[in-house]
Amino acid sequence: MPRSPFDPRATLGHLARGARRERLVHVRHLPRREAELVPWPQWVDPGVYAAWSGAGVTHLWSHQGEMAERAWAGQHTVCATGTASGKSLGFLAPVLTALAEGSHAPTGRGATALYLAPTKALAGDQFARLEAMAVPGVRAAVYDGDTPTDERRWIRDHAHYVLSNPDLLHHALLPGHQRWAPFLRALRYVVVDECHVYRGVFGAHVSAVLRRLLRVAARYGSRPTVLFASATVAHPEVLASALIGQPVSAITHDGSPREATTFALWEPPRDGEDVRRSAVSESATLLADLVLQDVQTVAFARSRVGVEAVAAATRRDLEGVDPSLVPRIAAYRGGYLPEERRELERSLRGRELLGLAATNALELGIDIAGLDAVLIAGWPGTRASLWQQAGRAGRSGAPSLAVLVAGDDPLDTYLVHHPEAIFEAPVEASVFDPENPHVLTPHLAAAAAELPLTEADTEWFGPSVPTLAEALVAGGVLRRRPAGWFWARSDRASDHVELRGIGQTVRIVESRTGRVLGTVDEARAHSAVHTGAVYLHQGQPHVVTELDLTDAAAHVVAGNPGWSTQARSSSEFRILHATHEQQWGPATLTFGAVEVTNQVTSFLRRLPTGEVIGEHPLDLPPRTLSTMAVWWTLPEAELALAGVGEADIPGALHAAEHASIGLLPLIATCDRWDIGGVSTALHPDTGLPTVLVYDGHPGGAGFAEQGFRRAAQWLNATLETVRTCECATGCPSCVQSPKCGNGNEPLSKPGAVRALEHLLAGR
Ligand SMILES: [Zn+2]
Ligand SMILES: [Zn+2]
Repeated sequence: MPRSPFDPRATLGHLARGARRERLVHVRHLPRREAELVPWPQWVDPGVYAAWSGAGVTHLWSHQGEMAERAWAGQHTVCATGTASGKSLGFLAPVLTALAEGSHAPTGRGATALYLAPTKALAGDQFARLEAMAVPGVRAAVYDGDTPTDERRWIRDHAHYVLSNPDLLHHALLPGHQRWAPFLRALRYVVVDECHVYRGVFGAHVSAVLRRLLRVAARYGSRPTVLFASATVAHPEVLASALIGQPVSAITHDGSPREATTFALWEPPRDGEDVRRSAVSESATLLADLVLQDVQTVAFARSRVGVEAVAAATRRDLEGVDPSLVPRIAAYRGGYLPEERRELERSLRGRELLGLAATNALELGIDIAGLDAVLIAGWPGTRASLWQQAGRAGRSGAPSLAVLVAGDDPLDTYLVHHPEAIFEAPVEASVFDPENPHVLTPHLAAAAAELPLTEADTEWFGPSVPTLAEALVAGGVLRRRPAGWFWARSDRASDHVELRGIGQTVRIVESRTGRVLGTVDEARAHSAVHTGAVYLHQGQPHVVTELDLTDAAAHVVAGNPGWSTQARSSSEFRILHATHEQQWGPATLTFGAVEVTNQVTSFLRRLPTGEVIGEHPLDLPPRTLSTMAVWWTLPEAELALAGVGEADIPGALHAAEHASIGLLPLIATCDRWDIGGVSTALHPDTGLPTVLVYDGHPGGAGFAEQGFRRAAQWLNATLETVRTCECATGCPSCVQSPKCGNGNEPLSKPGAVRALEHLLAGR
């Protein structure tokens, strides 16, 4: 019997029946969008055109056409359009045309192109799709850490189109650029796919690597055109320009068609006075409800543990109503074998599976397009991820339903009550600081090892080159000669830099077997895996028997002691220098360099009920972090005017600090673990009550700077979130923080509202 067409509005009406009506905070109907078609450009190589038109692509969508034209004209361009909008074809049409034409050159390789994806898997996917198109005359190859040595040689000497990643560029291609000379001499295009992923410290690293590439290519006489593809972010041209240090034009108008979607924002009810039901439990209830209505649904959770919890709770719910549906629910955490993934895809297509709980779609490696509905348990971090997950619903020609279920934290709460921040202009910008000296300095050393560094290299790396190079001379890393700065050591410069993160990691070692379960950043190790900590590894509790800092290892045994632990710490900061300042009446807002010192001093043991059963001192050394921060001050007398008495100041500032950390990801793509805060009723450097929010990475990552630039928007959102929260004295949706080193004490919610109001009134 054919199924009746899926009706998202009726389904939503059923979910929000009776008393649940008030959980449905907002509904947005996104209408069907027709495709905007343009003809293929005349200059496209006939072989390229034949490959795509043979597959039914007889026209381009408008943004693909625009991208192709600008790329063909040699303009650095970024295309930032939605998921599944075919961004690849926009750059492939000009790139493959150039490669095919170049294949008639006497060398057989008149033009080459380099494609960079953030991961090996994505480069592999892109290669597989390209192979399927079989464009005549174009030799493409994946070049990554797994490529065998003899193949590498063939690729260097013969491939037209090399698909790789920034890590390989950094560790292999650039240090050995002489061997790549013929390829680099012909380099016409560089494609940087999924470029929104390059943010924070990783973004700064990739930026330095791309600039090193362009510099080395210039040495061989080529000035390749750089083409970027990005998910929708605010100001993609700013992001792309920062990556290469040159102007880049943006295409943001999406010409691809879209089916109608009903998008609902859902806020779980409060369980008690001050706690909201978790997004995971609420999503399980909704998933069971949808499955009972024969609506095929995927529920995305942020962690593997969340995925298991959603699946288990959904099965439990169904057990009591219709046990025949229980086997039609599955959990998918990624990391499955290819045949297991194909089996899962098959049972979804055949509708044997009705409900799937899964982690982020990007890493799934399975094709789950064409379901009826998507549940998103908790804000996935960025709008780009949100649309990517929502885009998993919708069969061709049929409408779909997407529901964002808010988690119990300030950002989720703000967003479900401010749908315009989700559906209208993109909110967050993907940011990083290309001049972070902690990142740039070792890359300059690597650049000097590739080709001697000179004053002229400010063209690629910015004005700080001479200063940083002299610092490297002082450290014995570079040597100054008349012709420039030279690499002065005998080892490889690139081995001194890891692109994915700065600093050390601590291994988590299972004491009994010696097996390494995982790693944790040294920065987080003191609070997460101190001696005595209960550490969750993939949802399984382990107790840390010893944190050995000299060996950078935490020794653990599996087992649940029946309690959890929470580290307590003290933080202070020193202002190194102020870079920018703005005056808001009596308040001063500053962006600048600081040194934050944090010491984990003890830990609490808590029963599942929350009851504290003991506090245990720890003997860990203080850690200092030199970074960038944004801070504001208000004189005590002004706080008194605002109704915040002296005794209330610490709680008011502490609460304002927590909430503003929670809301910073609204304007800069970071999560609250990328940033930290300190508040104090009297700071020795300012002489005033001060609230500070800092980048949690050495040298800064651009998040605090974004906070300073958009301070009014950021702090207004913070104020509103705290003011409108229905709790009595503060809850995780407003001023409590899961990472507070003071056990969320003291906190004054009304004090924070008054202080923030007074701060903003001064604007
Ligand atoms: Zn609250
Ligand atoms: Zn705190």
